[in-house]
Amino acid sequence: MSKPRVLIIAPNWIGDAVMSLPLLKQIKTSDCQIDVLATPWVAPIYEACDEVQKVISANFIHGQLQLPLRWQVSRGLRKTGYKACYILPNSWKSLIIPLLAGIPQKIAYIGESRSFFLTHALPNPNKSERPSMVGHYLSLAFNNSFEISRFNSEDFYPRLTMKSEVIQACSSVLNNYLPNSKNFFIIAPGAEFGPAKQWPTNHFSHLANLLLHQYKEFGILILGSKKDTSVADQILYGVEPQYLARIQNLCGKIPLIEAMGVLSMSKGLISNDSGMMHIGAALKIPQVAVFGSSDPSHTPPLSKKASIMYLGLDCSPCHQRKCPLGHSNCLVNISPESVFNEFNLALTTKG
Ligand code: SF4
Repeated sequence: MSKPRVLIIAPNWIGDAVMSLPLLKQIKTSDCQIDVLATPWVAPIYEACDEVQKVISANFIHGQLQLPLRWQVSRGLRKTGYKACYILPNSWKSLIIPLLAGIPQKIAYIGESRSFFLTHALPNPNKSERPSMVGHYLSLAFNNSFEISRFNSEDFYPRLTMKSEVIQACSSVLNNYLPNSKNFFIIAPGAEFGPAKQWPTNHFSHLANLLLHQYKEFGILILGSKKDTSVADQILYGVEPQYLARIQNLCGKIPLIEAMGVLSMSKGLISNDSGMMHIGAALKIPQVAVFGSSDPSHTPPLSKKASIMYLGLDCSPCHQRKCPLGHSNCLVNISPESVFNEFNLALTTKG
């Protein structure tokens, strides 16, 4: 007899996609087959998840209804005969496909007044008592009876596995960009949410100089999306000329799946609170994550190899995209030297 099939409607942010992986692991304990419907932007996350049988990629654009595309996708899914669907985004439009595809069980948070159409409608969490995102998604599998404290267990940490063909492709990327370096670190200076989560570029430059001085056989790759290219160029502008051959800007130059592969082969990662931070944690890379306006108890890097730099000022976390006070002291006052020292500690004790 074939296994029951479950569909996941994926979230739209890379970090959220990584933090949904423990939910998939929990669903899989009931011996079912899990498929994921995701945008091309987050699909690579689920391609590196052992619990997923098939990733269905559809080019949904944020904020657009795209009814013809949703109709076309749902027709394809209707034939598959899914038993249940977990809808992770909160939007009303994310419910359209499971409705049109006739999937009997629809499990989600109430979101935008959609409880009437859900078979399992969980109340939205109170914003003042924000659980961790991993716990938030996991609650869907426990019909909201999940004890949030349990997420601290390593059993519920997200995990990614890179396929051997991806690693092979990444070896040639490394030969192209860092032909003379035996090892390398990753700097990921982007944060989609906004500047209040981005450590200053001059701090990243100073940190790169410290690393390249200390680790003479190492190179550095700067990873991110195309949007991060100019930020990475600003970092390179502050790197001392004698080190420039050992640091390369790969932002927007390789697809996400290769960026994940390259990250999995690196010796350490320094990033903001971003999608790349969560990928590094799920790959178990020694890492230091710099937090500004966001809350490290809500979206921590879930890995024993991760360290967090967070000042916890009176104004933090403000959850704003831009600093409302105009100084971004939560980030500016985290010195490159302190991150460098924390990173050295992570390498020696967690590497
Ligand atoms: S208000 Fe405070 S926490 Fe928010 S961005 Fe500014 S310095 Fe950071």
